[in-house]
Amino acid sequence: MSLLSVVVPCYNEEKAIPFFYQEITKVSDELTRSYPDLSFEYIFIDDGSSDGTMDVVKKLRGQDSRVRYLSFSRNFGKEAALYAGLQKSAGDHVVCMDADLQDPPHLLPQMYEAVVKEGYDSAATRRVTRKGEPKIRSFFARLFYKLMNNISDVEFVDGARDYRIMSRKMVDAILELGESNRFTKGIYSWVGFRTKWIEFENVERIAGETKWSFFGLLRYSFEAILGFSTAPLSFVITLGFIVTAFAFLLIVFIVIKTLLFGDPTSGWPSMICIIVFFSGTQLLCTGIVGAYLGKTYLETKNRPIFIAREED
Ligand code: UDP
Ligand code: MG
Repeated sequence: MSLLSVVVPCYNEEKAIPFFYQEITKVSDELTRSYPDLSFEYIFIDDGSSDGTMDVVKKLRGQDSRVRYLSFSRNFGKEAALYAGLQKSAGDHVVCMDADLQDPPHLLPQMYEAVVKEGYDSAATRRVTRKGEPKIRSFFARLFYKLMNNISDVEFVDGARDYRIMSRKMVDAILELGESNRFTKGIYSWVGFRTKWIEFENVERIAGETKWSFFGLLRYSFEAILGFSTAPLSFVITLGFIVTAFAFLLIVFIVIKTLLFGDPTSGWPSMICIIVFFSGTQLLCTGIVGAYLGKTYLETKNRPIFIAREED
């Protein structure tokens, strides 16, 4: 017997879950036809929803013993929900999938085949189009991936989804990273393992609304930078060097100029400009260092990644 766990983070998804359940059970039946030994568990993680998500999930649980759930005491974010799901899963393989069908379940047979027949530890998906997404959002998303690949050691694949099937080994490796600043895409690639990439066209969500505002995404990208790169700190050091060198040259220049031509009291505006410029640079650099310090502070508190209210 072999078990496949399907982890589904849900935040206010009462409308989408019935569609999702219908699709995933269809794909499960299809898979069990090709792999008679395969059984399933569907783990719904309710991320502190305020709508009827839990009622829908509990009803499914009543009908289908493969359904399991864990409900958070409040909204902890998708990253925490994925962690909780991986922790709760018992499968030999685990797949993480959004509840809104933007991670097409019909790719699952192909993904499963990659891990059981083709010798991969993981099969991940990326969307090759961003059709149906606001232009400005796609633009910044692209920019973000380009930036991240330049400043981080781990690889960030443009369009990569959190939709991914993993072997138990990889899941355990991910669970060992107990950090509270969880940028799952980064964590997936940080732990390594052989990954097959499967591409698909973007699909719009089946029902309900996206939980991401533009500023939410912006904050998310800062999390990623702070979590997976120390390049901004190197930037601070480089800038410090450049500015110091510049200041040194300026001092030499001013001393020589004063010795040669005397010291008429002028240059007040340029003085103010210089003061303002350096104050700004200093604030920026302190801010960058502060951002890392803040993360370190939160991390040292060692708080749990989520708090469960109920589970079954
Ligand atoms: N989600 C979650 N917690 C949150 C936000 C989102 O568990 O705080 C879940 C959500 O229910 C969905 C998945 O994460 O299953 C992806 O969210 P969404 O579809 O809103 O993001 P998008 O696809 O628009 O990037
Ligand atoms: Mg979505």
